[in-house]
Amino acid sequence: MAESGTPVLRASRRRWLNQKMAESGTPKMTDSCFTPKMAESEGFRTPNAAMDFLEGQTSFWCDTWCAVTSFKNLFPRLYALACNPDAVVAEMRSANGWNLERNRQITGGVVATHLTQMVALLPVAPLSGSSDTWRWVLEGDGRFTVCSVRRRIEESILPVGNRSTRWNRFVPIKVNTFIWRLALDRLPTRCNLDRRGIDLPSLLCPICDGHVEEARHLFFYCQLAVDVWSRVERWLQQSFLMFMHLDDVFDWIDSRPTPRMDRIITDTVCLTALWVLWTYRNAVVFGTLEYRKQFIFDNIVSFSFIWFSS
Ligand SMILES: [Zn+2]
Repeated sequence: MAESGTPVLRASRRRWLNQKMAESGTPKMTDSCFTPKMAESEGFRTPNAAMDFLEGQTSFWCDTWCAVTSFKNLFPRLYALACNPDAVVAEMRSANGWNLERNRQITGGVVATHLTQMVALLPVAPLSGSSDTWRWVLEGDGRFTVCSVRRRIEESILPVGNRSTRWNRFVPIKVNTFIWRLALDRLPTRCNLDRRGIDLPSLLCPICDGHVEEARHLFFYCQLAVDVWSRVERWLQQSFLMFMHLDDVFDWIDSRPTPRMDRIITDTVCLTALWVLWTYRNAVVFGTLEYRKQFIFDNIVSFSFIWFSS
């Protein structure tokens, strides 16, 4: 399951996970920073809906217990209007539901919207009556396990596809890593950097300056990429399909009715072509003048030969 949300949201979730994991420390392995409601907001399954706050000291406004941060931070205007800003969760809950008395009547506007949003975050289930406790909702028994965190982080960060990770033993590790990042669309293209909230003077492709620089454009749609693939095609004396995605390259290579070693050679050349395109792009972005456009194909030929024969 691929993680939902923009890269910025995903990065925020990662920061939040890291922060929470750091805050939780190591001493009490059954402790967890996740509440069922927080877990829901993260897309977790919540095996336990009941929450335990009746006799505890969890601050309704100041503790992070029901959202990704405290209600004080999330709704500062509501906090400013609270009759009892020091109330614990149990004090805010009555038999009829949540007691959200305020010093002043809310008639509308942003504050009313925030009140609606806060009510939507509050759990509907009644309090159980036991002491405050944290449960690790990623495991059915409520116990913390590193495995569950790793699994959750992988589900959150790594897009899951049907294709297994490829590894070509002839190209350097840096090239295999680069291909792995490209497959996950994790290369720092201008489009991806922008999605991570980094301000850039331009999102356009540094090579053609005509389209937004995303991986698909850079490696397959950009006129330079089209020309490079065309030359590689002629060099290999093969007829490429129109590549529009990295998967197209792999599908085409894997479907070739040729001896296995021929497919490995083709794979090596294609990975090299992608790598050389990326290094040329970086040379353009960072102003490395010695890497000129006319060297691209020569580099593909020489690198792939050196790597395959070494
Ligand atoms: Zn371009």
